[in-house]
Amino acid sequence: MVGLVVVCHSRALARAAVALAAEVVHDRPVPVEVAAGLDETTFGTDAVAIADAVAAADRGDGVVVLMDLGSAVLSAELALELVADDLRERVVLCPAPLVEGLVAAVVTAAAGFGRREVCDEAVAAMAGKQSHLGAPAAAEEDPAAAEEDPAAAEEDPAAGAAPGPSAAFTVTNAHGLHARPAARLVAEARRFDAAVEIRNRGTGSPWVSASSLSRVAVLGALRGHELEVRASGAQAREAVDGVVALAARAFDEEPAEPDVGGQEAAGGRFDSAADGLVQLGRPASPGIGIGPAWHPGAAAPRVPDVASRGEAAEWRRIEDALAAVRRDLHRVRGSTARDAGEAHAAIFDAHLLLLDDADLLADVRARVGAGASAPRAWSAATGRIAAEFGALPQEYLRAREADVRAVAAQVLRALLGDTAPAAAGSGVLIAPDLTPAEAAGLDAGQVAGVLLAFGGPTSHAAILARARGVPAVVGLGAAVLEVPVGAPVALDGGTGEVVVAPPDSVLAAFRERAVAQAARRERARARAAAPAVTRDGVRVAVGANVGSAADARAAADHGADLAGLVRTEFLFLRRDAAPDAEEQLAAYREIADALGGRRITVRTLDVGGDKPLRYVPAAAEDNPYLGVRGIRHSLEHPALLREQLLAIVRLAHEAPVSVMFPMVSTVDELLRARRMLDDAVTRAGGGAPAGLRVGMMMEVPAAALKTAAFAPHVDFVSIGTNDLAQYALAAERGNAALAGLSDGTDPGVLRLIDAVCRGAGGRVEVAVCGELAGDEAAVPLLAGLGVRELSVAPRSVPGVKEAVRATGLDVAADVAARALDLADAAAVRALLADAGR
Ligand code: PEP
Ligand code: MG
Repeated sequence: MVGLVVVCHSRALARAAVALAAEVVHDRPVPVEVAAGLDETTFGTDAVAIADAVAAADRGDGVVVLMDLGSAVLSAELALELVADDLRERVVLCPAPLVEGLVAAVVTAAAGFGRREVCDEAVAAMAGKQSHLGAPAAAEEDPAAAEEDPAAAEEDPAAGAAPGPSAAFTVTNAHGLHARPAARLVAEARRFDAAVEIRNRGTGSPWVSASSLSRVAVLGALRGHELEVRASGAQAREAVDGVVALAARAFDEEPAEPDVGGQEAAGGRFDSAADGLVQLGRPASPGIGIGPAWHPGAAAPRVPDVASRGEAAEWRRIEDALAAVRRDLHRVRGSTARDAGEAHAAIFDAHLLLLDDADLLADVRARVGAGASAPRAWSAATGRIAAEFGALPQEYLRAREADVRAVAAQVLRALLGDTAPAAAGSGVLIAPDLTPAEAAGLDAGQVAGVLLAFGGPTSHAAILARARGVPAVVGLGAAVLEVPVGAPVALDGGTGEVVVAPPDSVLAAFRERAVAQAARRERARARAAAPAVTRDGVRVAVGANVGSAADARAAADHGADLAGLVRTEFLFLRRDAAPDAEEQLAAYREIADALGGRRITVRTLDVGGDKPLRYVPAAAEDNPYLGVRGIRHSLEHPALLREQLLAIVRLAHEAPVSVMFPMVSTVDELLRARRMLDDAVTRAGGGAPAGLRVGMMMEVPAAALKTAAFAPHVDFVSIGTNDLAQYALAAERGNAALAGLSDGTDPGVLRLIDAVCRGAGGRVEVAVCGELAGDEAAVPLLAGLGVRELSVAPRSVPGVKEAVRATGLDVAADVAARALDLADAAAVRALLADAGR
């Protein structure tokens, strides 16, 4: 006897259908197996379970498999790959409707017919219902629909009663409904107050919701396929018309656009025709990187085996992670649109839609409801969709699996607060941009270099790449994202040069450069521990900017005289609650210990802007860089600052410590912070620590111009040229399109630095801890203006010390004075190059 398998998204529905069918035949029980739902309550289908069910249902005469919709079909197809070869030949995947088909199949199988007959009877099972009700064609209800598609009413009886107007169209896009056109279709369907469904007549697919990207994608719609759309609801007609019009416009895809490999991008070309060509981006972290291209987006972090904290809490985690990734994607989309045009930016629409996909979210919600943790539910549900894409027969659509996996991994990382992508692979990492957390995870031992489509040299990603000693080129434009995984790449992070598939001669030249740079570095390293003294005998302290104990060890290793900036944010980010004073003290102590008695300059928390804290709710700001960040944030959340100052003061009783406040704009802010520091001293007990020095960052142009007013209240000021240049030039520091503008050697910025040095008047020490300090060419300029401390990435310390040693202050002061009168950064750099010869 032929066996039957019921493949269905819902276990309850499958069992009920089987029970119903069993009512019909009492005498000859037919072997019926159910492969339905992922568990008792979670919707889904599983190829392995289907394969097992097929094996169990087979009595030697074969098996007829009945499926419900969408992924059930794909899973059943996949299951066929899993069963033994001889069994596979006896299995029929039957396109009959589930309930009617199952009843007919049970009757036919019980009567002893073969599997073909059983399937045919099941398919014909709709006939009774149809002849009874008739086929209420769209044309009857809406003549316009029949005009557009006269065949729609007659074809496909299996579709049942069309719920409203319908129409048909042919896909003209070269690659069918791939990510971008599919995303446009979904966006269009969602615009209307209507339930819009679509199916592919070319493949005989079932109707699927046109509002679900994952459903639309599995239609497998290729060029030339005829698709049918139907809708019900208040705006059904508008929705159908909208979709048909969109299809007529080829889903707004530009005709040349499908040749994905061949576009010219803002920063250069990275198609195969450009292999071996030197492309130029913005140099962001010096050094030569050579290795295979690697895209971290697809690398999913491991899902930990932790218990659910309850449905509501886990669902909230999902929502938070989706919101965070949505924000990221909007940011990347914005910069892509700006740099490379709308057509390229539209790829991110598909990613954004996935975050909103009703089918996906329902699945995640069901899994969370069934007791799964948020990461587990998310990874299982997205894994299902990715597998559906992966199982599609068309190679182009199959490739979309990577898209789904990339977005899925991004959300998973957000859920886990994971920085792994940068650390997880090796070779030359290529990405749109890196979040500060991702960049902080870079491991120079693994990552040969970094190429970013967006961002500027003073973005946090660039700073952190420098800190990690990973060569980086940024602002390359969206085309760099098309470099295939595994393609050989060579880059020079000092010049911004990038070559994909370099010919042997070019590769040899890059290797030579690497050797020469290594020799120079070695020379500098050998003298790194010695003080940096100018030719005329003036000492300039060269410190390191550190964001972790590992950085502090690297700083000591590279001869840093002090830590001129300890960025404490990394202790506060990527967690669900703030560290208390104890934890902070331990972390700061580890940094102080690593520096072995050298002074550390601890900057109080500088969050807000692009570094929000999960556990401190913040109102959305139109201009976060001009918003509640730095000292403003700390004064608004005094409990956080109080705890941090207590830890800093306690440490100051053990080691030489300076404390400084970021983003100060007014004397009042400084005085309020100082009063809280006094409180911390009282609370810590033991009186004022002898070595405690107090300073502020100079990052706000207005503050720089008011240095004399701040001077009586501080021991030192440290100029943050990254933010100072950003604000002085009104050029957001992470914006690749403005990267050329945001140069700390702009005479406008230099004048502000000059104003700080003059305002300090020799009574207050002036340091620079922005990225300009690590620019060896700018060292004479800063020293010439009166700066006596430079704080740079740990690995830059030896080189900067060499630059100080090569500087004569008399000449430097003259060069600096002339630079102030020049027109722009380019002129200043030309002057510096001239003076250096
Ligand atoms: C700066 O703005 O120059 C600075 C050193 O601070 P951060 O880069 O951490 O904003
Ligand atoms: Mg800053």
